[in-house]
Amino acid sequence: MKKILAFAMATAMALSIAACTGAGSTPPASSNPPASSNPPAASGNQGGSSADASTPAFTTVEPGKLHMSTNAEFPPYEMLDDSGSPVGIDVEVAAAIADKLGLELVVNDMGFDAALLAVQNGQSDIAMAGITVSEDRLAKMDFTDSYATGVQVVIVKEGSDVTMDNLGEKMIGTQMGTTGYIYASDTPDNGGYGEDHVIGYETGAVAVQALVSGQVDAVIIDNLPAQSYVEANAAAGLTILEGTWVEEDYAIALQKGNTELMAAVNGALNELKADGTFQSIVDKYITAD
Ligand code: GLN
Repeated sequence: MKKILAFAMATAMALSIAACTGAGSTPPASSNPPASSNPPAASGNQGGSSADASTPAFTTVEPGKLHMSTNAEFPPYEMLDDSGSPVGIDVEVAAAIADKLGLELVVNDMGFDAALLAVQNGQSDIAMAGITVSEDRLAKMDFTDSYATGVQVVIVKEGSDVTMDNLGEKMIGTQMGTTGYIYASDTPDNGGYGEDHVIGYETGAVAVQALVSGQVDAVIIDNLPAQSYVEANAAAGLTILEGTWVEEDYAIALQKGNTELMAAVNGALNELKADGTFQSIVDKYITAD
């Protein structure tokens, strides 16, 4: 049994960080063209061993920087600390990748959909937000090797009659734009419950508040944020149904076709996995009971 380390659930929407836009807004302001043309902005720096013709150089949207778009509302992968700075597994892994590539990490916090769009449009170099690799997304962006397994679960009120089997008769809250929303709102033929049964909220936290206030009967969300939300709302008596709603892979998203940066980021990620750095970051945020 895993347990997320206790941390303050910051009221993220009220806060902003350097170089970020407000949550749920459009992708970050950038001097780069918004078009999704490849390769990424020509003003980017040369990275890698550019002197060595055998090692392809990579470019980033800002010289010397690695811009990561995220939605810092997904503990323990990304959340804001008490001072409003983004922290979490994804943030630290991205910082370690940037370090290996000789770059400085810049975290741009925005809505989840916006974080995915920013990387598609070349406004950020990478997106990390506990992002599930899905077929639809693979058509619009590229993904590194997976770095975690995500398990979606169902949160209900203690004592409720909701089960994994009767979700189709209930109202379900999800975070807009997530795979939880996409799959649950799909037609029953495709394993979903239909749009009429699903409400997409701006954040997972807002979806959980809708459960607490009785607007929905259940919330479908990734397991680790689910545990955190249940703990943060202990007084409301929430619980996670036994069982897995769906199991997925998380990976880092990059703009489609940016093969040089992909090779560099994947190389760094795999080195971090091999040398134990990745696991030590995970262990900081997730402890066994
Ligand atoms: N893993 C889910 C997805 O990719 C949720 C991610 C999130 O809410 N940050 O859609």
